[in-house]
Amino acid sequence: MKAVKSKRTKLEDKVSKELWRRGYRFRRNEKSLYGKPDISIKKYQVAIFIDSCFWHGCELHARTPKSNVDYWLKKIQRNIERDVEVTKYYRNNGWHIFRIWEHQLNDNFGYTIELLVKQIEEIKKLNCST
Ligand SMILES: [Zn+2]
Repeated sequence: MKAVKSKRTKLEDKVSKELWRRGYRFRRNEKSLYGKPDISIKKYQVAIFIDSCFWHGCELHARTPKSNVDYWLKKIQRNIERDVEVTKYYRNNGWHIFRIWEHQLNDNFGYTIELLVKQIEEIKKLNCST
């Protein structure tokens, strides 16, 4: 479990690298932002969270751990509640929040990034016109 819990996952690295390659400049795990988004672009008020299927209780891949079931379920439940809270916070504060599931990236990395980039570009356009 330790590897999964490490602050920066390989998947986050992969997404960051790809965004960087495409010219985006961002911060990772910015402490001053609520919930420390995995990736954030302050200029465009974009917060990106990459949610692991296990830790964030993905409905498609929720697996009940074999031992310490109560412990894990409580922990995951807390994460889910916190995710809702964090999402609400950003929406209420005029930020654009993106939550990407681990499985979306694993299933089709290119497409998921493409979709994300498209949306960030839309936000950039909005920013320019105001
Ligand atoms: Zn999943």
